[in-house]
Amino acid sequence: MKKLHFAHALLPDGWAAGVRITVDDQGRIAAVDADMPADGCEAHAGIALPGLPNLHSHAFQRGMAGLAERRGATEENFWGWRQVMYRFLAVLDPDDVAAIAAQAYVEMVESGFTSVAEFHYLHHAPGGGRYGDPAEMAAAIGRAAAESGIGVTHLPVFYGFGGFGGGAPEPGQRRFVTAPDEFQRIVAASRHALRDLPDAMVGVAPHSIRAVTPGTLAEVVDAAAAVPIHIHIAEQQREVDECLAWSGRRSVDWLLDEMPVDGRWCLVHATHVSAGEVSRIAASGAVAGLCPITEANLGDGLYPLPAFLARGGRLGVGSDSNVRIDAAEELRLLEYGQRLRDQMRNVVVSHADRSTGRALCDLALAGGAQATGRAVGRLAPGHRADIVMLDPEHPALVGRQGDHWLDGWLFAADGRAIDRVWIGGRAVVERGRHLLRESVRRRFARTMRRLLEN
Ligand SMILES: [Zn+2]
Repeated sequence: MKKLHFAHALLPDGWAAGVRITVDDQGRIAAVDADMPADGCEAHAGIALPGLPNLHSHAFQRGMAGLAERRGATEENFWGWRQVMYRFLAVLDPDDVAAIAAQAYVEMVESGFTSVAEFHYLHHAPGGGRYGDPAEMAAAIGRAAAESGIGVTHLPVFYGFGGFGGGAPEPGQRRFVTAPDEFQRIVAASRHALRDLPDAMVGVAPHSIRAVTPGTLAEVVDAAAAVPIHIHIAEQQREVDECLAWSGRRSVDWLLDEMPVDGRWCLVHATHVSAGEVSRIAASGAVAGLCPITEANLGDGLYPLPAFLARGGRLGVGSDSNVRIDAAEELRLLEYGQRLRDQMRNVVVSHADRSTGRALCDLALAGGAQATGRAVGRLAPGHRADIVMLDPEHPALVGRQGDHWLDGWLFAADGRAIDRVWIGGRAVVERGRHLLRESVRRRFARTMRRLLEN
């Protein structure tokens, strides 16, 4: 048992002072007690928050961050970016993926993300040949997760086809296309490969409606039982148009008509949705997986947040392409996009005198925990001891109290507001730096030099 003591902490019931958190040998919170002396504890003068779950990541894409920011000869949108991404991933081997993912995860942890849902579609060898172990690449993700300490929900991706209704895949998709039976072998092997990661969850991710057929999607969903199910949906208007042409229905309507969408599901992006679809997502209990930095970078569009929240919709945030990795920035940009569109402030808050920073954190903690299918997002017994500690002396936080700390962190601070991070009760960040930052960065640098020379 380990006992941590914090000057202040955000508990499920609100702010508390003199908080003692007892962590068991499995990294779970055994007890939380407020108004306690620090005697016999490892004492910290900071502000403890539950670590944020990152509900959508493609870790390898951290290696191409900033490499698609010049105008090309073809279309300047998501589809043009995707071609750059396909060229980048074509040569990556498992060690490259482990090196890039470790860098991404260290940056996530330093920014306040303590768990990640890894939407993993890079299954096969360069050219599409099969590895002897179907979980070769999942194991690379597992090595990166173990090194960084981040909690993992691994989501092997089912990618069956290159377009709506069973279109042929294009050459750039050879490393991820599988038949449904091969996919089930990848899922089983991934479970085995990640068995030693503390409290890891393995879910499934049908890539998108355009990458499945109704029959193969049903097969994947039926086999998933109680685990998280994530899917990209309606990220681009073109995808919705193609779905309409194929089925006569919009993407989200099609999914909700055809599949038993419920609280296990995370609909990633869901950017282009009608008023009816917004209501239906909220009523389904599924989480909307919003990725504000990537959606801005790719020119995707803006989610209709006020209508969704008015219907009690659940949401979380993800770093997706990892072009920037910063938990506070994702939440800030989520709010700022809505402000720019609607020409108003404090959009996510429905009641007067409530804090926008608190509302954003509450939404992302609850929705992120639900989407990752792990006991995270609350400083409460039975949950993982994933704790982010803010520095109360940071210029954006000093002299404040309660929810003003969250507003200061999300809207006014830089990355140095986070002093320490524990994951599963284990210290991984001290004075703002991951304990393995230098060695992970050196290996990442060697990998990137070699990749970019070729
Ligand atoms: Zn994605």
